[in-house]
Amino acid sequence: MRTLLAILVWAGALHAQAVRVQLVTGGHNHDISFYEAFQGNRDFKIDVNPHPGAFHGDLRKSVDVLVLYDMTDMDGEVERKHLREFVEAGKGLVVLHHAIIDNQHWPWWYEEVTGARYMLKAEGAMKASTYEHDVPMKVRVMGQHPVTEGIGDFAIVDEVYNFMWRSPKTKVLLEANKPEGEKAVAWIGPGENSHVVVIQLGHGREAHENANYRRLVRNAILWAAGKP
Ligand SMILES: [Zn+2]
Repeated sequence: MRTLLAILVWAGALHAQAVRVQLVTGGHNHDISFYEAFQGNRDFKIDVNPHPGAFHGDLRKSVDVLVLYDMTDMDGEVERKHLREFVEAGKGLVVLHHAIIDNQHWPWWYEEVTGARYMLKAEGAMKASTYEHDVPMKVRVMGQHPVTEGIGDFAIVDEVYNFMWRSPKTKVLLEANKPEGEKAVAWIGPGENSHVVVIQLGHGREAHENANYRRLVRNAILWAAGKP
């Protein structure tokens, strides 16, 4: 009986320490292998909630890290308010792959939060962004950061985006030798005390099954949650 009680207390403590993740999908199809990228993280409590339902309520008390893998514009005022309050409270945000294209018409989002904008069409001196599937690349770690801890330079085959706008206030974590456009494929958002990680990689099975990609996503969630 005592042993059972001890196990229950231990399990309860583990649960209490779990990083509460809300994973947001919707607006873009993806391979089911995406979910495999999160397996093995027993210290995460992950709830999948598609756009826009994920933003109907105040997220600040119930979620530590929002992981976005949706691709859509946030047009509802209530949903925008909840997302903005969450980010401005210093909570964690991890933006994966096509979620970089979210919120094309919300300058606060791309200038101050993600620090990047996929250009759907040319604007001023900026040409339209492009994408290319199945590109073999070598990814290089740029400097030291908790998000890239335990990750050496690695090879991956993935979709790439080219000619995006990126804020000079972002801190680049990874560069890839992709054939066109700028080289950054992961960075920290431009805000002061930013807990925002943007990872351009992650289209399909080749990326989702890549051990370095999985480590990168795990590290990003832990760092965004403020874990050492
Ligand atoms: Zn893609």
